[in-house]
Amino acid sequence: MVCVKLDPAGPFEYRAGQYINCFKDASTARSYSLASVSRLDDCIKLHVRKIPQGIVSTWIHEALAPGDRIEISEAAGDCFYVPGNPEQGLLLIGTGSGLAPLYGIVRDALLEGHSGPIRLYHGSLNVEGLYLIEELRRLSEEHENFTYAPCVSQGDAPEGFYQGIVLDVALKETGKLSGWRVYLCGNPDMVNAARKKTFLAGASMKDIYADPFLPAPS
Ligand SMILES: Cc1cc2nc3c(=O)[nH]c(=O)nc-3n(C[C@H](O)[C@H](O)[C@H](O)COP(=O)(O)OP(=O)(O)OC[C@H]3O[C@@H](n4cnc5c(N)ncnc54)[C@H](O)[C@@H]3O)c2cc1C
Repeated sequence: MVCVKLDPAGPFEYRAGQYINCFKDASTARSYSLASVSRLDDCIKLHVRKIPQGIVSTWIHEALAPGDRIEISEAAGDCFYVPGNPEQGLLLIGTGSGLAPLYGIVRDALLEGHSGPIRLYHGSLNVEGLYLIEELRRLSEEHENFTYAPCVSQGDAPEGFYQGIVLDVALKETGKLSGWRVYLCGNPDMVNAARKKTFLAGASMKDIYADPFLPAPS
């Protein structure tokens, strides 16, 4: 995983959790989510996972260098924090680089003074697939209403980590979701399953925001 920092050439409006398209060339672009919060960060931040043989992610990891100029689109998508209901419970579930938008949304919500419970579940096969662990633990120590749960689905979980599929852990730990707002990002299979299961657990469809990280059509 790399964190890419972009300094837009002109005014750039966005909400943490939305995504932009990054162009490798005029006809090759991929979507990446915004992990930064415009009021907290002085540049745009993306978390890019390297996909084996992946055209754009490999280019970003291996060829893009500090100082390079790249073309990006405007920010799009509705996966972001909406102020106005500060006591609502927020449940955020992500896998792999699906943490990028969720990390932005959590920091945005805390900055806005959200007072309801904010529960972030980040899952991977093993601990090596998780990141920002210390930063998120620190954030949860600073904010009583923020819970961070790193989950590993393979092998034994070390102390301080949950054992199991991230969606199962999140549903078991959180219980009924009536009145909660839900954010789901990352692996498309997880996101689709989570849409159904969080709805069945009581979340209203209008309160479920999802960004499945679908591969670009070939
Ligand atoms: C709304 C949205 C937001 C996204 N946000 C992020 C983000 O914040 N960070 C991030 O790293 N990615 C994100 N993605 C995924 C990203 O857009 C690319 O799909 C990803 O980087 C792969 O592109 P590539 O050009 O490297 O691979 P490609 O050249 O497109 O694909 C190469 C091969 O890998 C397969 N493949 C593609 N993606 C995956 C995958 N995830 N797992 C396994 N195989 C795969 C393809 O089917 C193909 O066979 C997001 C996608 C969407 C739709």
